[in-house]
Amino acid sequence: MSQDRPLHAAAAAGDASTVARLLRGGGSLNARDGQRRTPLHLAVRSGHAEVVRSLCGANADPNVRDSGGQTPLHYAARLGHADILGLLVQSGGDSRIQDSHGHTPLYWAEREQRPEASALLRQHEAARQAAEEQQRQQMALAQEQERQRRAEQDEARRQAVYNVNTGMGACPQCGSRNLNKVSSGGSDTSAQAATCCCGALFFWPLMLLAPFLFRHPGEWHGHCNSCGHTWRI
Ligand SMILES: [Zn+2]
Repeated sequence: MSQDRPLHAAAAAGDASTVARLLRGGGSLNARDGQRRTPLHLAVRSGHAEVVRSLCGANADPNVRDSGGQTPLHYAARLGHADILGLLVQSGGDSRIQDSHGHTPLYWAEREQRPEASALLRQHEAARQAAEEQQRQQMALAQEQERQRRAEQDEARRQAVYNVNTGMGACPQCGSRNLNKVSSGGSDTSAQAATCCCGALFFWPLMLLAPFLFRHPGEWHGHCNSCGHTWRI
């Protein structure tokens, strides 16, 4: 059997030089044995850190599953090879993968009482979560900045349109572009009516002048919404 799969045999035996030679000769990292194990599975099972390092260096996948759904990380955790577990994690090993029974590498490390492997897995998980949280915060910040940028853009567009409508540039007093164009004609009649009802008793002389003050045709004013300045245009 091992002659059919020389890389499996060399990996299981911890024969680093043969593994290196076979890899140079194009040996398949993804070949499976009868239990769907890769050479990496076998190197991990036998605890050969150097072989694991060279297989990982050749881009062996640390997340492949054997017939029981176990990855090389499950093997390392179960057998307590903490140094190898570290190598696998550094090579992109995912410690969240569950085997066919729904068990993670951490489950196996705990069950087999491998404190070093357990600690490493917990540490790795905490670091992963912290990195995820940081990424989440950065994304939220980027989204907020994008939202503000768009709001500013919308406001600038709105004001640009507005100023085209009014034909006004900026407030002569404060420079704001948030302006209103008001007519002293029709739009003021309601104010006038209010003045009529409430102020007629006391300000009747003014009321007599009101038509001349407010009904002057074609009188337009610019009004600044920022500082309240009003001027004739
Ligand atoms: Zn102003």
